[in-house]
Amino acid sequence: MKAAPFAYLRPGSLDEAVELVAEVGDDDGKILAGGQSLLPVLNLRLAHPAVLIDIAGLGELRAIEPHGTGGGLTVGAMATHRVLERGSSPALAGFAPLSRVAELIGHLPIRTRGTIGGSLAHADSAAEWPLVALVLDCTIHALSRRGVRGIDANDFFEGPFSTALEPDEILTGIHFPRPPHTLNVVEFARRKGDFAIVAAATVLGRRADRCEHARIAVGGVASTPVRIPEAEKVLEGCPLSDVHPAVLEAAYVCGETVDPPSDVHASSAYRKRLVRVLVERALLRSHHDLEGTPS
Ligand SMILES: Cc1cc2nc3c(=O)[nH]c(=O)nc-3n(C[C@H](O)[C@H](O)[C@H](O)COP(=O)(O)OP(=O)(O)OC[C@H]3O[C@@H](n4cnc5c(N)ncnc54)[C@H](O)[C@@H]3O)c2cc1C
Repeated sequence: MKAAPFAYLRPGSLDEAVELVAEVGDDDGKILAGGQSLLPVLNLRLAHPAVLIDIAGLGELRAIEPHGTGGGLTVGAMATHRVLERGSSPALAGFAPLSRVAELIGHLPIRTRGTIGGSLAHADSAAEWPLVALVLDCTIHALSRRGVRGIDANDFFEGPFSTALEPDEILTGIHFPRPPHTLNVVEFARRKGDFAIVAAATVLGRRADRCEHARIAVGGVASTPVRIPEAEKVLEGCPLSDVHPAVLEAAYVCGETVDPPSDVHASSAYRKRLVRVLVERALLRSHHDLEGTPS
């Protein structure tokens, strides 16, 4: 099947794109980034936008720059998964875990075209970047005629394929507040390159010889990616020299907290079991990474 007919607009600047998005509106128009999620949707005729606004030519949305005082980074919405995987920008030094995350996404042609902004805006609950945005306390930037606003990742994902973006807003980038030294994403998919059936992302911080700032999020278990604060609390303050019991308990709490649906890919019980196993693996890797960081 092929997409229903649409008008194709290619703005020459971000200002022009903002005007076009405001004029066309979300009912009639769609922003086209890498097209790796949108084009299949159009070809299956699951959406029939009258207008596509292609933002691929907007170089300013590809910028990857250091930002803020804490060693943070802002990645433009049109940065591709492949650029992040290869760590091609000097600003990505210190952000190697992002490269390992990008590597998990689809296949090479998908990573070459697909963008981080498209992934966040598409908001698939099993996608990697939304999970990462949650565990790294990221801020997502949106631009409209009213100006720029930052949206806390915790408030961004609202439902199945639905976000806090207003119909007239363009997602312009994502801010990572600090280098993600202990970020780990562990997932289970039937074949390499498939979307994960379940994915888990974790981060651990330290204060002296104790754990602090634990973050755990899982995908593929609900209509949005979810953080599990009940499990994060289990790890707060636990001694780093004897973290294993707390890791097991946190993983158990995650498995008990989620209530995933059953579908053709996996039953609810199987997904719960995967959550427990994948969270445990991710936390152990984060703990391992923590050993090399200064207290
Ligand atoms: C076979 C296959 C396997 C895949 N496997 C994975 C996987 O394992 N993990 C994973 O995360 N993804 C996977 N993907 C999806 C891929 O990562 C896409 O690149 C991503 O979901 C969307 O990015 P895009 O740039 O292609 O966006 P597009 O497809 O162009 O757009 C997606 C949606 O986001 C909106 N949008 C895009 N950019 C913006 C913006 N800047 N502002 C506002 N709205 C915007 C569009 O209007 C559209 O609704 C897979 C895709 C395929 C085809």
